[in-house]
Amino acid sequence: MTVRIRADLDQLPAYVAGRTVPGAIKLASNEVSAGPLPGVEAAIARAAADVHRYPDMGATRLTGTLAERLDVAPERIAIGCGSVALCEQLVQITCTAEDQVVFPWRSFEAYPIVTQVHGAGQVPVPLSTGHALDLDALAAAITPATRLVFVCTPNNPTGTALRRAELERFLDAVPSDVLVVLDEAYREFVTDPDVPDGIELSRRYANVLSLRTFSKAYGLAGLRVGYAVGPEHVIEALRKVCIPFSINAVGQAAALASLDAGNELKDRCESVAAERVRVRDDLLALGYDVPETQANFVWLALGERTQEFNEHCMGEGVVVRAFAGDGTRVTIGGAAENDAFLAAARSFRKT
Ligand code: PMP
Repeated sequence: MTVRIRADLDQLPAYVAGRTVPGAIKLASNEVSAGPLPGVEAAIARAAADVHRYPDMGATRLTGTLAERLDVAPERIAIGCGSVALCEQLVQITCTAEDQVVFPWRSFEAYPIVTQVHGAGQVPVPLSTGHALDLDALAAAITPATRLVFVCTPNNPTGTALRRAELERFLDAVPSDVLVVLDEAYREFVTDPDVPDGIELSRRYANVLSLRTFSKAYGLAGLRVGYAVGPEHVIEALRKVCIPFSINAVGQAAALASLDAGNELKDRCESVAAERVRVRDDLLALGYDVPETQANFVWLALGERTQEFNEHCMGEGVVVRAFAGDGTRVTIGGAAENDAFLAAARSFRKT
């Protein structure tokens, strides 16, 4: 006899992390190449001296500072061990086995995983032909069993972002007892003023929550800090199911210090946005199908050639993120890294 594990976990898809290959350029995990913001490494070093102490369990300073900066009540903010932990907590607080989670697909690969881990039903909704979220189809997929809808904007991995009018029309159509989670992990990279701010929307819609992270633009992926801004009773429930002390002290200190580097954050996001236009334009000129992106990555809809492209890039010393049979996501790095990727994309066309 062996220990019995839940049989349904056999069907659980594994989360595939972007690979790190020594010596290669990593454009596989949507990290920023620029590193932590100024002042952050010093804050980390100071926090390191106290790691024999438990962290502030309620992340109260970080919550308070975010509340001030975002102009929302602290009761409307929950901090998580990365926004992926908050995704999981959101399923935990809304769903039992009879309930369903609606999400676009393809989108952030954690959505089906966290839904299945908690035994809720999954309702994946295909993207439009333009690789964007299909809001009409998402709205149509909502049934009395739906408790939660993930709306990823900009969408990982395709980069497309929803515009104000279409998103408001969707939110108007969603029943008010269904929680809509606007996953805005890439919000800081958005340049189009017509892309709405989910925190603003969460003030106006009582069933809307915005998810943000310090992992991407802020450059703290290794320290695991994300946050949710939403209705007070939802935030209260998120805090109840949070694993105690899972938001570590070094991460809290680094996130706080990062909030003091607003100008540098703005500069780095602007240079990512400029590079993203350059990379996409070059790819389009080479004949690739690349949707317009508001994130720090581009999507190459390569279909059956995805794996081959992946191997080609690997051979050229560039690690990208392939989704077999579908496409490849490539993070915007520094100019030289992007040049190396573009050279690989160019030579692939000749193969
Ligand atoms: N949401 C989206 C859309 C993401 O792409 C990611 C990271 N890949 C996350 C959430 C989770 O990020 P983190 O847990 O590092 O905050």
